[in-house]
Amino acid sequence: MTPEQDIPSVQSAITTLPPELFIKLCAFLPPADLFTLSQVCRKFHGYLCAPNSFSTQQIWKVSRLKFMLKEDMPPPEGMNEKKYVELLMMERGCQICKRVKLCKIYWEFEVRSCEECFLIKAVNLSKENLKSWLDDKKLIFDSIMEYATQRAIKYGTLENGKYY
Ligand SMILES: [Zn+2]
Repeated sequence: MTPEQDIPSVQSAITTLPPELFIKLCAFLPPADLFTLSQVCRKFHGYLCAPNSFSTQQIWKVSRLKFMLKEDMPPPEGMNEKKYVELLMMERGCQICKRVKLCKIYWEFEVRSCEECFLIKAVNLSKENLKSWLDDKKLIFDSIMEYATQRAIKYGTLENGKYY
């Protein structure tokens, strides 16, 4: 048997898991393993990456509460659990340059970035654009900053009115 022929038989054993069992299995997995699992096949990707599925969001929430013990704050309004968990995974480093280095979560931009990448990104938004972007998103922005402040207070990272 060639390796190509071998793949379907191996896959079928794992991927024929009924969704209920899949969800139960996921309850034992930390977020990093969930991400790996989501890349195994289209079916798992579907289970784990559906932004509007209650079951999907529940899988990530259970994993977060079980394995990221500090992270018991719910995600900011409008952000789904998967996106939230993805942002919280500091050990994965910068989402822009992909390097593992000291990063900060920029809640207003929904990105975890190193300072260098953030400066490049921020400079690219001219003042004009930034203003209309902020006007556009004023309400969302206010609520997200309120959220960021609450987090900073909760985790003791608020310094001189700035959070880190
Ligand atoms: Zn970077």
